[in-house]
Amino acid sequence: MPEKQKKLDLAVRGALWFGPLKADGKGKAAKKSDQLAKGQLPKGQLVDVLVAKGKIVALTPAGSLDLRATHEVEAGGQVLLPSLTDVHVHLREPGQEYKEDIASGLDAAAHGGFANIMCMANTRPVNDTASVTEFMLEQARKSWPQGPRLYPIGALTKGLKGEELAPMAELKAAGCHAFSNDGRPVASTELFRRAVEYAQDLERIVIDHCEDPYLAPAAGMNEGVVSSRLGLPAQPDVAEAIQVARDVLLAEYLNAPMHLAHISCEKSVALIRFAKARGVDVTAETCPHYLTLTEDEAEGFSARAKVSPPLRAQADVEALLAALADGTIDMLATDHAPHAAHEKEVEFDEAPCGISGLDTALAATWELVRTGKLPFDAFVRAWTTAPCKRFALPVNTFKPGDPADFVLFDQDAVWTVSAETMHSKSKNTPLLGRSLRGRVAAHFLAGKYVVGKKTVGA
Ligand SMILES: [Zn+2]
Repeated sequence: MPEKQKKLDLAVRGALWFGPLKADGKGKAAKKSDQLAKGQLPKGQLVDVLVAKGKIVALTPAGSLDLRATHEVEAGGQVLLPSLTDVHVHLREPGQEYKEDIASGLDAAAHGGFANIMCMANTRPVNDTASVTEFMLEQARKSWPQGPRLYPIGALTKGLKGEELAPMAELKAAGCHAFSNDGRPVASTELFRRAVEYAQDLERIVIDHCEDPYLAPAAGMNEGVVSSRLGLPAQPDVAEAIQVARDVLLAEYLNAPMHLAHISCEKSVALIRFAKARGVDVTAETCPHYLTLTEDEAEGFSARAKVSPPLRAQADVEALLAALADGTIDMLATDHAPHAAHEKEVEFDEAPCGISGLDTALAATWELVRTGKLPFDAFVRAWTTAPCKRFALPVNTFKPGDPADFVLFDQDAVWTVSAETMHSKSKNTPLLGRSLRGRVAAHFLAGKYVVGKKTVGA
């Protein structure tokens, strides 16, 4: 049907778009080379987004199509972004709802600009049975029926103990979207190999938390000058890289896909680059905190900076930024790991690892784009197309027929990260009390508001 005859449900007018306007990527936006040369955003243009039946009808230069919609929204020059996808969160339900539950985690996701969330299996009980998976999906449907959409990740081994494979076929049938032993890396390469093979048979990808389980596991502090000065137990970056090496060699040997979680250091980047050059089917994620913070955050023994893998050195930050820009690191994920305040307000070595990330991820990484450290197209790829392609999730590329999942982002709004401004139950972030620039002003999923004016489009 020609566009003019379509009945529009929603039109968002006058949003600022930095991407190409045509699906072939040859639109009017600035070329990548211009952007990199200037170290700045490409020149944006004002656009209209037209939506019918929850799907994109068109993304056009503002005012170029004279069509009215049932619901008209003036964007007023706010930045248009496709909704983000996060393939790595911990939502703590069932079992530790005082840290986070599925409803509060999805609240933080909605306000953080996320359409799709993949949640890890280290709940209590562990997500190693169909009943836990089904419970998670039911909680998500009840609390946020319009989304953000929840995709549980099943345990690789029973109880995450690394001794016996979880019932992966049963978990897949119940709705598990991938498999991981995140937080408890599998020490036995023999068992890990069988898990990867089994997952491959089930057409599911294994996500590995790369950490040598015998080399200062979960120390949450990088071994380096800061740990020496503070006298804290620490883990060297090779603890991660050793396991990355094992995993990419195994993936090549088995000809199986592999996804590497929260890559934190230059050595791992080098190994992933090596593997990709050999044609290994490996993808990798890093997290906003590894791109924006260093081991210096632990000065003053602040347990808010305790995370696994630990925050590394400035040279690692720079290697990760370069790897994300050139595609060696495929995607971003938050590793949102909520903990209660009392659990983090203890001695550094007593505190659990983890940073609450869903509320701050978009603003923290947009700052990298704004300051020219991360190209806009790499930002979009890392938060949307790369994770969605790898894990077969719905994605909006603003082509006709795509799900109308998008954010209006107020890139000039300066806000303070605090208990009041965060939607997650958990405020455990080194950014607490700091200012960030840029907030989600409105978030649409399937063309309906999940954040913003509740009366419109509902
Ligand atoms: Zn992990």
